[in-house]
Amino acid sequence: ITDSKTIIVSNRLPVKITEENGAYVLSPSEGGLATGLGSIYKNGNNIWIGWPGLEVPPERQDEVREKLAGLNLVPVFLSNEEISLYYEGFSNEVLWPVFHYLVTYANFEQAAWDYYKVVNDKFKAEVLKQLSADDVVWIHDYQLLLLPCLIRTVQPEITIGFFQHIPFPSFEIFRLIPWREELIAGMLGADLLGFHTFDDARHFLSAASRLSSSNLLDNVLIYKNRQVVVEAFPMGIDADKFDSLTRHEKVAKYTSSFKASLKNVKTILTIDRLDYSKGILQRLQAFELLLEQHPEYTGKLALYMVVVPSRDTVPKYKELKDQIDQLVGNINARFRTINWVPIHYFYRSFSIEFLSAIYSTADICLVTPMRDGMNLVSKEYVASRTADDGVLILSEMAGASKELNDALIVNPNNIGDIKEAIVKAINMPLEEQNRRMRSMRAIVSKFNIHLWVKNFMDKLNEVKTMQKSLHT
Ligand code: UDP
Repeated sequence: ITDSKTIIVSNRLPVKITEENGAYVLSPSEGGLATGLGSIYKNGNNIWIGWPGLEVPPERQDEVREKLAGLNLVPVFLSNEEISLYYEGFSNEVLWPVFHYLVTYANFEQAAWDYYKVVNDKFKAEVLKQLSADDVVWIHDYQLLLLPCLIRTVQPEITIGFFQHIPFPSFEIFRLIPWREELIAGMLGADLLGFHTFDDARHFLSAASRLSSSNLLDNVLIYKNRQVVVEAFPMGIDADKFDSLTRHEKVAKYTSSFKASLKNVKTILTIDRLDYSKGILQRLQAFELLLEQHPEYTGKLALYMVVVPSRDTVPKYKELKDQIDQLVGNINARFRTINWVPIHYFYRSFSIEFLSAIYSTADICLVTPMRDGMNLVSKEYVASRTADDGVLILSEMAGASKELNDALIVNPNNIGDIKEAIVKAINMPLEEQNRRMRSMRAIVSKFNIHLWVKNFMDKLNEVKTMQKSLHT
């Protein structure tokens, strides 16, 4: 009846913009979130607001704005300085390390906080420009923690959902941030706050009730006379896509050439963005320990390690890259033979077809983050195992471990534990592999990205209806 619309807001738009011979070329992103939210933002007059991913000079902004409008996308233009302080400085050097429990990596700089506020304000301005009273706004992730309250202040009745894709730390960690009250007040502008796990939701509720004047009743905070609901929504993947990709012609080509190069070698796969939260060094140490204690695996086992370049302007990431390079070099030099290398290390990204081929070929997938909001790689491996075989080794610190109980669950700090899990995986009978993989595949297939979007949106509607009934 109404022409109300849904507005998705995230730091980045689901599109890649490149400059070719002076012209801007757009290519839609294949990421999981973009796929899941595609069912929303591509429909009717719904839109997605975000940063286009590069600095666009003022005289060319109209051109980009017009191109994006054709895809239901609306840009927020940011200067390189804003990106450096709001995105790299505050989001990635304060919030990211603290929310992943690495507080000593945090760089609490006033200027970064100032820019974080300025840019959240810029997002607010763009949202308000697009907003009508009946619209639903769904804000994503830690770069925009202040945005819910900024919008609420101007439009008190509007429906606002917020989902955080990274962990929310326990109060004792969160309180270390100098601007903790402002961050909580920012988030409490939402009607529904979603996190990947029950523990993240619980941590938020505890921090919010200590740092704001609110009353807590189960998972509902009464804040400024409004009900704010906090809940866990474990994010899924597009499981059907990963399943059917394995039968794609291009993937089959990659798979057969990969298999031909292996010959009786068991393969362990690891895929991560370059990040200190991923436990890459500890995992390499576990693999080294394995080679040390099990010389019988010489020539029979190979680790395929994909590290995707990320945030390489942040000093901590550069440091980590050097440490990985060194450790891989040491291990290979120490254990290799004339015709065998233990670690095949790639520092680059791959096409989804190539990823599908290695997911569906690797005997073992080793996922050992120190902390991870969810970890989609573990779910993509499971979804790609169409023959129901293969073994997933998964850190208990990944959100995914709450759902994928049939993985071999390890403590990522326990090098010996990881090593033992690899031995167990190498020797796991096919029947046991099948039993575990089938049950994990059922979960990944059912709780997919589409159900995640539906559950969040349904809940948001429910919360709004409840608020209205309490106020009449
Ligand atoms: N990925 C990719 N290109 C690559 C390797 C991985 O796009 O070369 C994708 C992978 O398919 C997965 C995502 O990157 O969807 C990583 O998500 P995850 O939740 O595991 O970790 P994050 O990087 O979000 O911390």
